[in-house]
Amino acid sequence: MDAVSARPVSRITVLSGGMGGARFLQGLLHGIAAGTLPGVAADAEVTVVANTADDIWVHGLKVCPDLDTVMYTLGDGIDLDRGWGRRDESWSVKEELAAYGVEPTWFGLGDRDVATHLVRTQMLEAGYPLSAVTEALCRRWEPRVRLLPMSDDRVETHVVVADEAEPSGRRVVHFQEYWVRMRAEVPAESVLVVGLDASTPGPGVLEAITETDLVVLPPSNPVVSVGTILGVPGVRDALRASPAPVVGLSPIVGGTHVRGMARQVLTAIGVEVSASAVGLHYGARRSGSAGVLDGWLVDERDADQVERVRAAGLPCAAVPLMMTDPAATAAMAAAAIALVTGAGAAEAG
Ligand code: GDP
Ligand code: CA
Repeated sequence: MDAVSARPVSRITVLSGGMGGARFLQGLLHGIAAGTLPGVAADAEVTVVANTADDIWVHGLKVCPDLDTVMYTLGDGIDLDRGWGRRDESWSVKEELAAYGVEPTWFGLGDRDVATHLVRTQMLEAGYPLSAVTEALCRRWEPRVRLLPMSDDRVETHVVVADEAEPSGRRVVHFQEYWVRMRAEVPAESVLVVGLDASTPGPGVLEAITETDLVVLPPSNPVVSVGTILGVPGVRDALRASPAPVVGLSPIVGGTHVRGMARQVLTAIGVEVSASAVGLHYGARRSGSAGVLDGWLVDERDADQVERVRAAGLPCAAVPLMMTDPAATAAMAAAAIALVTGAGAAEAG
């Protein structure tokens, strides 16, 4: 009997972006319910620290894409095809705004989704912090996790792109404009996270990292999702100091992102677009001054990169990392847990 089997993992904290993080969480909850996660208690509680640097004010409404993607996905309200927003959506509000010629026309909120945003914005304007608003919205959706914004402060990611029409030759756009309007089709020269250095972690965030049995960095965007969470002052230090093991799963498979635009933003920050390079970018806790990981999983297609990661002092294994359905994703979570706790290593290979 090892220590882990003697004291089951009953608290898990996940640092999440939107779609990649939400899908991982679906699989994690599936694995907990099915009892397929080695050493994890059947009633284990999951806390999610979600990225809020994608947030934007549009048409007077506060939009929090990653919080809502996690909330709607786990609350079974998500549109599965789009991967964001509400299922069975209609678009009258968007059409009416366009008929008035109101900008930005590239950003659409569905009619059902508008209700969520009205509730959020009214509460914020009444003085409630984003964390309290999120808790209130989750009372309806019951996502089965505790969902915490990384910060209650306004933090917004911007992307620098080339623009010949500008005297400087470049232009700064909000992350949402880069992603939604420009479809990340032009190269990102750099990424600026406005407000990050002055932000403070939201209520419960540091405790969720230090008072837990396991921390997971899911296959979320390492720059504009997990990277911004790690950039909230105090979060990286809390991870480095946490007594809990910290494990990550690669969002890069076979040299590219599966969906999204991790490739563009990794290139912008000078990190090679490979599973091993992302693991080394996060770094090993035991070596290096800023590393946060005790283990890193890469996809089996990237098995040839395992040695490179191990050579840097970071335990690493290759397993299938495609989140095709909750059972496949639960198997990824099981392998991640086995890598850093030693529990169930035999089953996980
Ligand atoms: P976003 O906020 O909606 O962009 O979502 P996240 O930041 O949580 O996750 C986006 C990242 O998830 C993408 O850049 C992909 O690299 C990664 N991703 C999406 N689907 C998969 C998958 O099936 N397997 C793996 N390993 N990564 C995935
Ligand atoms: Ca996001």
